[in-house]
Amino acid sequence: MKRLNCFRLFLAYFFIYPVALLADEVTIGIYNETNISSMVFSPVKSSYIMVTGASENLIVKEGDIIYINFVGDSFRVMGLNTVYGYFSEVDFLPSDDSSIFSVKAITPASQRRQYDDKLKIRIRFNRMQLLNTVNMEKYIAGVVQSEGGVRATMEYYKTQAVLCRTYMIAHFHRHAEEGFHLCDNVHCQAYYSRCDRNPMIAEAAFETVGQVVVDVNDELILSAFHSNCGGETENSERVWSQKRSYLRSVPDPYCQNTRNSSWEKSIPLDQWRDYLAKNGIKGAKDYDYSFFNLVQYARKTHYRVKSDSIELKKIRSDFALKSTFFSIQASENNIIIRGKGYGHGVGLCQEGAMQMSKLGYNYIEIINFYYKDTRTVDYHEIGKDVNAKRDSVLLK
Ligand SMILES: [Zn+2]
Ligand SMILES: [Zn+2]
Repeated sequence: MKRLNCFRLFLAYFFIYPVALLADEVTIGIYNETNISSMVFSPVKSSYIMVTGASENLIVKEGDIIYINFVGDSFRVMGLNTVYGYFSEVDFLPSDDSSIFSVKAITPASQRRQYDDKLKIRIRFNRMQLLNTVNMEKYIAGVVQSEGGVRATMEYYKTQAVLCRTYMIAHFHRHAEEGFHLCDNVHCQAYYSRCDRNPMIAEAAFETVGQVVVDVNDELILSAFHSNCGGETENSERVWSQKRSYLRSVPDPYCQNTRNSSWEKSIPLDQWRDYLAKNGIKGAKDYDYSFFNLVQYARKTHYRVKSDSIELKKIRSDFALKSTFFSIQASENNIIIRGKGYGHGVGLCQEGAMQMSKLGYNYIEIINFYYKDTRTVDYHEIGKDVNAKRDSVLLK
C-alpha cells in the first residue's frame, strides 16, 4: 500500500472523478439486518482511497485486504501486518467509476458480497453501520438482479427497472432517522450484491435511466408486483384496504401455463372441519361436506359456508397457500384446493409480463397493461423537489 498526502489525494479525486460526483446517487444501508463485529474489505476492481480522518490517507489496491473489528466505542482497522488505528468512521472512496469492492462479514460469518462505488463504515446505535453510496442505476441493476432473477428478456428487465426505480424514489425517507435512504433487504428492496450475473440487467437500468411510473395526478405509483395472478389481477383495496386508481383488477391472458399458473393441495376433511369450527363457521363439524365447496370464476374475498364466512387471505396465510384465487372440492375424506397464481395478485404479474415481453410488447406497453391510466416519465420532470427530497435525508 502506498501513502498519499491529503492535498495530492484531493487533487486526484477532483480531477479524475467530477462525473461521478455529479451523478445521481443513493445511500443504502447494507447488511442492515446483521450486527457485524468483524469484517474484511477488499477492492475487487481498481483501487480505493481509505479516509479515516487521520492525517494520511491510504490507497488500497485491488486484492489488498483491510480487517475491521468492532471494539466497543470504535473499531480497529488493520492491514495484513499493520494496525492503522482505531476510528469511529472510515470512508472507502473509489479511484474511478469502475471501482468494485467486496465485503465479507467474519462475525457473524456471511457470504462475500460485491458492490460498486463508495463504502462508509461508522458506529451508530452502538453497532457498525455499513453505507454503500452508489450510482442510482447501478443500485437499480443490483435490485433487479436480486428481485427479478437472471434469465429474462430485455423488455422484462426494463419493466422491473422502472418499477424498482419508482419504489426507490417514493421511499427516499424510509430510513432517514438512521441516516441513509433505503436498506438492502425486503423491508425496502432486496439488494444483496451489485449486478454481476447478467449484463443485460445493467443495460436495462441504464437504458431506462431516470424513468418512473406516475398516476393521473403525477404522483409516483405504488409499484406492487407479484409472481403470477392466476388469470386476473386483484383490486388493491381487497388486499390492503387502500384503494389506488391504477391498481385495478385486469383479466390477464398472458400468465397461463407458466410455472405458478396452477397448484393443488389436499387437506383431510376432519382437519378442515376443525379449522372452520375454530374460525367462526358454526356447525362446521356437522354440515354435509357438500357445503364446503367453493367456486371462484372471478376473484372473491370471502369463503362462505351457510351464513358464516372467513376471509380468503386468512385461509391463504393459515395453510401457506400460494394465492387466494382457489376453488374447493369436498369429498367424504378430504377437500381438494385447486388454486391459480402465486402472490397477492395486485399490480404487475411477473410471469404475465415476461410472456408479454416474449410476444413483442415493450416495457411501456407492459406497464400500461398492468397499471391503469399511468404514464412512464423521467423523474426529473415530475417535480423539482425529488432531488431535494433525496438530499434532505441528512446523513447524520
Ligand atoms: Zn428498509
Ligand atoms: Zn397474470
